[in-house]
Amino acid sequence: MKKYILGLVLLVCSSLALAKSNEINVVAAENFYGSVANVIGGKYVHVESILNNPDADPHLFTTSAKTSKAMTNAQVFIFNGVDYDPWSKTLLNTKNKDGKRSVIEVSQLMNITSKDANPHLWYNPQTFPTLAKKLVVTFTEIMPAEKAYFESNLQNFLKEHQKVLAKIEQLKSKTKGVTVTATEPVFGYMADALGFDMVGKDVQWTIMNDADPSAKALAEYQNNIKDGKVKVLFYNSQVTDPVTTNIQDLAKKNNVPVVGVTETLPKGVTDVNTWFLSELDAIDKVLK
Ligand SMILES: [Zn+2]
Repeated sequence: MKKYILGLVLLVCSSLALAKSNEINVVAAENFYGSVANVIGGKYVHVESILNNPDADPHLFTTSAKTSKAMTNAQVFIFNGVDYDPWSKTLLNTKNKDGKRSVIEVSQLMNITSKDANPHLWYNPQTFPTLAKKLVVTFTEIMPAEKAYFESNLQNFLKEHQKVLAKIEQLKSKTKGVTVTATEPVFGYMADALGFDMVGKDVQWTIMNDADPSAKALAEYQNNIKDGKVKVLFYNSQVTDPVTTNIQDLAKKNNVPVVGVTETLPKGVTDVNTWFLSELDAIDKVLK
């Protein structure tokens, strides 16, 4: 796969059929990556994102004729990898009408290749800035004359992202070593960055995989909430079932604060830094 992607990247040249529209067609498997592409590419990109529904479970997504159609125009395709979006590999077989496409697999970019890795890589605070820098290179390959424009957009993005990093640093005095849990592992990398002690991971992974946890695992998980061991419950509002609803009710009953987190950009939010800052602010509010 790696070789295949490398091959596609090498195929990109500056003579793509851009003269007509003067826009680079970008397709992002996930809307948060599409958002970063929009910020970096600005007026020179047209971005379509496939996972775009804040109410749907991305883990259950399958492609349609519509998504395949978007791919036929994609000059740049961004996807997560590590089995988060296995349908992306199918989409890559869709021929581009020009036969040229640059592919960015974010997991490869972040050097995460293990199938057992937590797939929610974008919650690693380093992922968005790394992608943003890579996009400057990719867009510049296609539109060399606009290099300074893309670089200026990158600087603006990094300035905004600095607020996220500063908030993480500020929060650490409250979050370091504090035991928390979650209904699903979406927030895992950010929880690590904050120094939280995340428990109940086995149950979270079972829920992510749309299965039912064992009675023993669930009882242990629930006891951690009942006996006050966990101080915050991170509730993934996009991956829900009767088990997660019960967990949320149990947390409320036992006065464990619940912080809502989402897989993709929440309704009405188009910017990844705004999204993360609002989730970090929510943590700030519930921790003394
Ligand atoms: Zn998830």
